Amino acid sequence: MINWLFQFWIEADWSIALVMSVAVNIAVFVSTAFILDVGIGKLVTKYQWGSYIDERELKSEQKKMEFKFGITACIIFAACSLITRELFDLVWPSSFLSLISQIIIFVLFYETYSYFVHRLLHTKPFLKVHGVHHRSVRVTPWSAYSVHPVEALFIGMSAPVFMSLFSLSLGVALVLHVLGMMFTILLHSNFRLSMSNSILNQVGNYPAYHSSHHILGKVNFGFVNSFWDRCFKTRAKVS
Ligand SMILES: [Zn+2]
Ligand SMILES: [Zn+2]
Repeated sequence: MINWLFQFWIEADWSIALVMSVAVNIAVFVSTAFILDVGIGKLVTKYQWGSYIDERELKSEQKKMEFKFGITACIIFAACSLITRELFDLVWPSSFLSLISQIIIFVLFYETYSYFVHRLLHTKPFLKVHGVHHRSVRVTPWSAYSVHPVEALFIGMSAPVFMSLFSLSLGVALVLHVLGMMFTILLHSNFRLSMSNSILNQVGNYPAYHSSHHILGKVNFGFVNSFWDRCFKTRAKVS
């Protein structure tokens, strides 16, 4: 079924392929943000499993604004996915080794790409553009893709840029994109777990790391790893 859908998407007219990509992006964004938003609300208020990192009031109509920018970003990601139709060579990797190497190289590439793009967005020419994302000081899961269309284009072009340099199968690109969206939404969950479990605490550090970027500004630019933040001394410890 999934292979049939890929084949259909590859061969379809660009307008049909665009509609399919928009549907996938919006479905992942809205369902993940909704589940995290409602779920975390319940974990904090009903079960007391944790607390919000930043407890200040949300700005008026903040989630409405975040939703609007998020949907626009999904449409831009979908448009960028049409470029990958011109650049891919296989739907799935030809071997297990190829699968592992694609994942490792892409993860390393994206960590580097997103760090330096994020640093660029904090320079004077892009302050207005990136200011859209920083309108959310106390973040919510909906803040993840509350970005200016230009910033959405930078994010959406990561796979086409990678594919013009290295081999990346369409299937791996889709899975990594969906997981990347879910992780970005988790980064903006503003949730701190109060249980002591080493694995859960490790996962729980990610939202605190990114929340401090929204609260403090020019620190913690990294996505998954703090490697580049340590190299360029832009790392701020999270409490
Ligand atoms: Zn920023
Ligand atoms: Zn953010």
